[in-house]
Amino acid sequence: MEVNAWLSAQKQLDDAAKFLRLDKKLHQKLREPYRIYKAKLEIKMDSGKIKIFDAFRVQYNNARGPCKGGIRYHPEETLDTVKALSAWMTWKTAVAELPYGGGKGGVVCNPKELSAAEMERISRAYVQAFWKHLGASKDIPAPDVNTSAREMGWMLDEYEKLIGKHEPGFITGKPIELGGSQGREQATGLGAVYAIREAAKHMKIDTKKATAAVQGFGNVAYWAAHYLKHLLGTKVIAVSDSRCAIYNENGIDIVAAQKHKQKTGNLHGLAGTKCMTNEELLELKCDILVPAALENQITGQNAKKLKCRILAEGANGPTTPDADAIINKSKTFVIPDFLCNAGGVTVSYLEWSQNLSGYYWEEQEVFKKLDNVMTRAFHIVLKEHLQKKIPMRLAAYIVAVKKVADAMLARGL
Ligand code: NAD
Repeated sequence: MEVNAWLSAQKQLDDAAKFLRLDKKLHQKLREPYRIYKAKLEIKMDSGKIKIFDAFRVQYNNARGPCKGGIRYHPEETLDTVKALSAWMTWKTAVAELPYGGGKGGVVCNPKELSAAEMERISRAYVQAFWKHLGASKDIPAPDVNTSAREMGWMLDEYEKLIGKHEPGFITGKPIELGGSQGREQATGLGAVYAIREAAKHMKIDTKKATAAVQGFGNVAYWAAHYLKHLLGTKVIAVSDSRCAIYNENGIDIVAAQKHKQKTGNLHGLAGTKCMTNEELLELKCDILVPAALENQITGQNAKKLKCRILAEGANGPTTPDADAIINKSKTFVIPDFLCNAGGVTVSYLEWSQNLSGYYWEEQEVFKKLDNVMTRAFHIVLKEHLQKKIPMRLAAYIVAVKKVADAMLARGL
């Protein structure tokens, strides 16, 4: 059965609103994005033909500050997915106590079939379509699936041409040369590992003796795997990409895996590893499972087969509400997505702050601040979870929704 991320996001909010006994009108306002922009990007392809790509920017809520959220390029992108991701951004910035609201963008396209020149034209066209609604104090984009510092650089350049001045705070996750922050690339994966470190302490798991399986091998997954090994001493026994998962019970050499992927285009065939499916990876017996690819990976069908002790959601929305109902009855400790992967937006916030002040920090300074934010957010949520005896996801929602609701009330909304 197809799972709709937007319906999942609304259901999660409804559960929190019920628990908080949120005012009905406020709840209704929080159930929908406040602005949705759509565009058709007309792109001249390398062949000379014109192709049209659907593009979206959703601004979910800006009561606590400017909207903030990445831009995803994906062939299966839908407006509903972007709406869900924009809602999760709203809760993410709130739980991490960053002075932002939430937003998200997307382009329906398949980067695997596009040249670098076509990617650049799409990125510039995206800014041309939405620039009036974006900006350092309005709505600040960032990278997401299939976009990176390269696309952010093109977008910043296009934006600055349109406004006729420098404004590096318009976008985060950009190249260092254009005002990007040290540590932004590693931030989401590293932030997740800081949260895992705290969860392991709580669960009395010795991370040096622990094993981990990581779904995905993109930005979040790669750095999560890297720091699981190098910061916590955990053995990473499996990683995957969209084609296959690779497994080695003695641990995978993450750097060798990356080199292999760069050379061959996928993980399949890395020396010393066995191939398995993404489904099998999720069901591996391990201490820490990090789904860090896409949404809707853990569903009512496979949730009962999980064998991990900590489920650290690196991706946005990897677990459906059906799956949650099953996991909540098990002993698995969940670090919910918008808490676990808040490291990316945290360093985006640090990047934006550096851009606004013009004063730049070294990497270790950035990591220290990231650790503080992640550790504080984790313990605020853990406290709610323990005091109210509610699942970690609901606890995170309660903390976040209350902050957004309070800001709306303070504005008289
Ligand atoms: P990415 O494009 O760098 O990597 C995505 C990875 O997922 C790739 O390795 C790809 O092969 C893999 N993948 C795609 N479909 C798959 C499938 N069906 N099964 C297994 N693997 C599959 O993207 P990313 O930036 O690492 O984002 C991953 C997730 O983390 C997304 O949910 C994203 O929204 C979320 N996230 C990203 C950031 C960030 O800073 N990049 C921040 C917060 C949350």
